[in-house]
Amino acid sequence: MAPRPCIEPGCLDLAVATRCPSHQAALERLKRQRRPYTSAEKVRRARLVANWIATYGLVCPGCPWNEGRPHPVDPRTNPLTADHITPVAEGGPENGRLQVMCRKGNSSRVSRERSR
Ligand SMILES: [Zn+2]
Ligand SMILES: [Zn+2]
Repeated sequence: MAPRPCIEPGCLDLAVATRCPSHQAALERLKRQRRPYTSAEKVRRARLVANWIATYGLVCPGCPWNEGRPHPVDPRTNPLTADHITPVAEGGPENGRLQVMCRKGNSSRVSRERSR
């Protein structure tokens, strides 16, 4: 197969497959950062949420979506999730401390962090 240019916009280097070696390496780094959680980690989160509901009921402890105040959640539209206090994407350990928060609260937290 004849070498083709890298598919990244503005890059004129020749590609090995679809990207030049430096863009390929950058992509691999990004993929590693976004790696899915291990199944043990998923179990740990599910267990934490189950314990929370058994103790406190279907209540979010307070999140950015509800201005930090606790509120009841509907498991069909806004289920409780367990998330890292320090996001893994920001260098937190995957087995680090978790907090329970509703999904809406979690996504508003993420968007706020992204806008920083
Ligand atoms: Zn490139
Ligand atoms: Zn909430």
